[in-house]
Amino acid sequence: MTRVAFIGLGNMGGGMAANQAKAGREVLAFDLSAAALDKAAGAGCAKAGSVAEAVKTADVVITMLPAGPHVRSVYAEQILPNAPKTALLIDSSTIDVESARAVAAQAKAAGFRFADAPVSGGTAAADAGTLAFMVGCDEADFAAVEDAIQPMSRITIRAGDHGAGQAAKICNNMVLGISMIGVCEAFALAEKLGLEGERFFEIASKSSGQCWSLTSYCPWPGPVPAAPSNRDYEGGFATAMMLKDLKLAQEAAAKAGAATPLGASAEGLYALFDRLGGGPKDFSAILEMLRGRSVQ
Ligand code: NAD
Repeated sequence: MTRVAFIGLGNMGGGMAANQAKAGREVLAFDLSAAALDKAAGAGCAKAGSVAEAVKTADVVITMLPAGPHVRSVYAEQILPNAPKTALLIDSSTIDVESARAVAAQAKAAGFRFADAPVSGGTAAADAGTLAFMVGCDEADFAAVEDAIQPMSRITIRAGDHGAGQAAKICNNMVLGISMIGVCEAFALAEKLGLEGERFFEIASKSSGQCWSLTSYCPWPGPVPAAPSNRDYEGGFATAMMLKDLKLAQEAAAKAGAATPLGASAEGLYALFDRLGGGPKDFSAILEMLRGRSVQ
């Protein structure tokens, strides 16, 4: 039976670890939070007392941690010194490209196979096992990575070498952040011009304004029943998370010398919305700010 060490059992990692256990794998899980660890135990995982204990006999190690510094320290101080060299190491956190490449280089130098494999899909997809994975790894390792990820995924695509998974993730989310603001500005303008939101949706969704932010995640309540706009923008993908990803994109753009002026504007607008109290709301709630309405 495949032994999976799962580190980081938060909003995303909890559901992902549970899906590994559901697939019949032996999951040894660890999180700094006792509550998260108890929840994972209730979902079929065994509890480890530390990262070192979790990885000691692992075939696969999966990490789902908040940000780059967490990933750097957990790998350098706990995973690389304690995991067997045969273990396949997969980091699914969303982190900066530079940290992903640094951890990959350290892992490789220590004799491990490593992949950065961030995800798209949010907590509902994490629970359902339908995440999209974008993977940066050696070509020879991709089949093993795909197999390890399978119980958690709807689709897995190799983006390229180490760091390419994280590059794909922040570029994708930059498109999403920008396109959502574009859609929200259009709804706010339509409203001021006396055009009904539902009518605008009907037209734009069948015209050249059509895009995912409009037709799958409509920020205007009504036309897309599953969208967070129908639940007072609760759940979904928090503005604070979108802001984190847009910051990563801006840092990467500055280092790479890429011009991303709309990405910079989107970051500024989400930062403002966050300061106004929108951080915990779904990112499509930025429509409320653009309509000049109170955030809470
Ligand atoms: P979260 O804060 O809910 O979970 C992170 C977990 O890591 C926490 O339970 C925390 O206790 C644990 N942790 C931190 N340091 C640790 C350590 N040293 N050892 C063990 N455990 C440690 O965050 P989340 O929403 O699950 O997100 C995790 C990652 O996935 C982030 O990088 C995020 O950007 C990314 N992501 C999140 C979403 C989403 O919708 N929430 C979607 C896609 C990607």
